[in-house]
Amino acid sequence: MLFRYGANVDTVSDGARGADVVIAGGSYAGLAAALALGPRALVIDQHEIGAIQHSACAMPLTIAERFGVRDAVLQVYRDGYVHTAHGSTRFRLDPAYCLFDHQRLCRALFARAGARVLRARIQGLDGHTVLTSAGPIRGGLLIDASGWAGALATARRPDLVDTRRLTLGMEVEIPGQQDGIHFYFDPDLIPNGYAWLFPGGDTLRAGIGACDPHAKLRPGLERFLDRLGLAGKPTRGGRIPWFDRPPTVDDIFLAGDAAGQCVPLTAEGIRFALHFGELVGRIARQVLDGERTLPDGLATYRALVRRHRKRTALMRFAQGFVGVLPNRAIHLIAELLATPAVEPHFMGRYARWSEPVALPPPTLPCGADLA
Ligand SMILES: Cc1cc2nc3c(=O)[nH]c(=O)nc-3n(C[C@H](O)[C@H](O)[C@H](O)COP(=O)(O)OP(=O)(O)OC[C@H]3O[C@@H](n4cnc5c(N)ncnc54)[C@H](O)[C@@H]3O)c2cc1C
Repeated sequence: MLFRYGANVDTVSDGARGADVVIAGGSYAGLAAALALGPRALVIDQHEIGAIQHSACAMPLTIAERFGVRDAVLQVYRDGYVHTAHGSTRFRLDPAYCLFDHQRLCRALFARAGARVLRARIQGLDGHTVLTSAGPIRGGLLIDASGWAGALATARRPDLVDTRRLTLGMEVEIPGQQDGIHFYFDPDLIPNGYAWLFPGGDTLRAGIGACDPHAKLRPGLERFLDRLGLAGKPTRGGRIPWFDRPPTVDDIFLAGDAAGQCVPLTAEGIRFALHFGELVGRIARQVLDGERTLPDGLATYRALVRRHRKRTALMRFAQGFVGVLPNRAIHLIAELLATPAVEPHFMGRYARWSEPVALPPPTLPCGADLA
């Protein structure tokens, strides 16, 4: 049986239900953490694993290969295009990008992880007891991978979610075929944002996003579809934080959108959710195995996330220009970035951003005499 909802939640000594590690959220970050933890992890999600898709689901092909989910890939992109009102610029994608089937990818990760899952809505946190619609669940370690709303961490830090710093996105999926991955920067479609067209085999995912949380996306999406000669109703969408959040809140680890790890400007969050989810899972496993203390695990994770932040700061700076630069300037910047002297350097560095990292040794061995 693929799913083991609820049945296998351990009963700990005092009769409460619990698990070594409770992971809030069974999407990219949560499942990557579960991969490292196996049956010691209990994943809590309000939906069936893979049932709800918010994302357009594009990521570097190397990430699909690294996480062993090549089978979920629907189309590989070797070229990317930036379209403005002043022309189109082609980028060679090296490494290549791909579009994947969300459900297939999530189910493959979950099956491999061998973690347990509880289908329930997280409603709060009392100490280390997660309050859910299926009753209280005690977690030895807590990982918040519940996306932008941060279901666990906000119980300790209600100000974690800043609604002014959420990107909004909306997408339609319609039959059709196309080559390459396409981005459209055009204030006539959406000011302070962009539209996209991601082909996936026999369907096209066309969407629109804006950094302004009050942006009206639907009229822009209709204009975009009209321009492409397509028609369809939006079927999915959501919010993404574009500002860094703390990677730990007290003794809770945060990964993926819960920690604001999605990259500003490109809104690429999946590979970073997988990357940091996996890191958190590996650190949590070391803590469980007594190879690291929990404070050391939390500090190690914070240090690893700090490196990521330097680059997100740069991307946030670039994002700030989208709504203010004349469209012609955006076109000229795209042309400059696509020149042979710049492109391999720029695209290569961007694509290598989430390469696997080795965990540093613990600063103080477990059980060391502090005196
Ligand atoms: C329209 C749109 C298009 C996008 N396209 C791309 C793209 O092409 N490529 C890319 O890299 N990124 C894309 N992103 C961003 C990407 O979707 C996110 O960065 C990514 O999903 C973050 O993964 P996550 O695991 O951290 O959180 P999520 O994928 O948001 O998963 C959170 C999980 O937690 C569960 N959960 C939340 N609250 C609770 C609760 N209270 N109780 C129980 N369970 C709960 C949810 O059900 C969900 O399963 C897009 C985003 C949007 C909105």
